[in-house]
Amino acid sequence: MRSIKDADVKGKRIFVRGDLNVPLKEGEVRDNTRIVALLPTIKYLVENGSKVILASHLGRPKGKVVPELSLKPVYEELKKLLPSTNIYFVNDCVGEEVKNKVNELKEGEILLLENLRFHPEEEKNDENFAKELASLADIFVQDAFGTVHRAHASTVGIAKFLPSYAGFLLEKEVKFLSKVTENPEKPFIAIIGGAKISTKIGVIENLLKKVDKLLIGGAMAYTFLKKKGKNIGKSLCEDEYLEVAGKVLDNAEDKLLLPLDHIVTDNIDEPKRIENTPDENIPDDMIGVDIGTKTISEYAETIKEAKTVFWNGPLGVFEKDEFSKGTREIGKIVAELTEKGTVTVVGGGDSVAAVKKENLQDKISHISTGGGASLEFVEGKKLPGLEVLE
Ligand code: ADP
Ligand code: MG
Repeated sequence: MRSIKDADVKGKRIFVRGDLNVPLKEGEVRDNTRIVALLPTIKYLVENGSKVILASHLGRPKGKVVPELSLKPVYEELKKLLPSTNIYFVNDCVGEEVKNKVNELKEGEILLLENLRFHPEEEKNDENFAKELASLADIFVQDAFGTVHRAHASTVGIAKFLPSYAGFLLEKEVKFLSKVTENPEKPFIAIIGGAKISTKIGVIENLLKKVDKLLIGGAMAYTFLKKKGKNIGKSLCEDEYLEVAGKVLDNAEDKLLLPLDHIVTDNIDEPKRIENTPDENIPDDMIGVDIGTKTISEYAETIKEAKTVFWNGPLGVFEKDEFSKGTREIGKIVAELTEKGTVTVVGGGDSVAAVKKENLQDKISHISTGGGASLEFVEGKKLPGLEVLE
């Protein structure tokens, strides 16, 4: 992958594709994590005398102008984060006014464009639209890892018309995720949880080729357990995936570990009864909501020696405190391992939220900013937005 460090950026107009898709609340940025994550690339370009044209999507406006999904609040936040840099905003991402503003831009200044997805051509990877975006700049820098699994005008199309490089955040993502997918230091343990097998099957199959052990938690465990003839009560189960689950179990041999016990309840939203089952079976009238204490100990013992850990998917309904113990305890162990030098990588939207909820984000080697993109990377899929940087 070509790095921004290899580009001659002085005096050049640089189109930076960032991931500024931040949560908003009442017209303000509620969580600026993604903006902060982009600062190393932006500061580097500003300090090296580039004219920075910054672009991103925000939410799902579906090709229409949706005022609530304007990047204006991001502009305000950016000014707070970079008080000594001249930053401008323009109400569109293509057209005459945008061109004029780009022409007025001086070295070390930034122009933030309006939401790319206000134009339907963005998600269609329309060639003319990509060309128009490209016409604004001399160089394309991709730093929005969370978008590289999508072939859009600003992630793939534009690269046809401009010399293209990876920004620092993107490089960091690829470096850490590669530590998982290419020759991970052993023992390598993966922890896979979350709601559904269907969304994770590719990840599980690819990881099984590389891991020493793969620990399963979350609701997907019940589909595996049902396939093994266990009683799963009223727990979530994807019956149409029983056959797939069976194949995975056959191929995995002893690498795949399933929960030995569970936290179960009568009702997720208004629990009256919460119990730890004595074994893998769940009573007919109960719902599995977390891994049990025996499982936590067994998983803790398995992870202890790991030199590489990849974790995707909460191990229970972590959003509710009563059902978050498994996720929390395993999170703490992963954090302790990081301190001992193990490479620990967490990916997935809810997984990252869970790590933050437990305040462990600074104790993980790498928290991937790309939900879908990091999963597809770990699945071993070719990501179109990365291929154009090679
Ligand atoms: P990620 O976004 O990290 O890839 P997923 O979206 O696959 O993770 O799964 C997260 C969701 O799975 C959470 O909302 C969590 O409540 C849910 N979940 C985990 N365990 C269970 C369970 N036992 N029953 C129902 N939902 C569960
Ligand atoms: Mg999710």
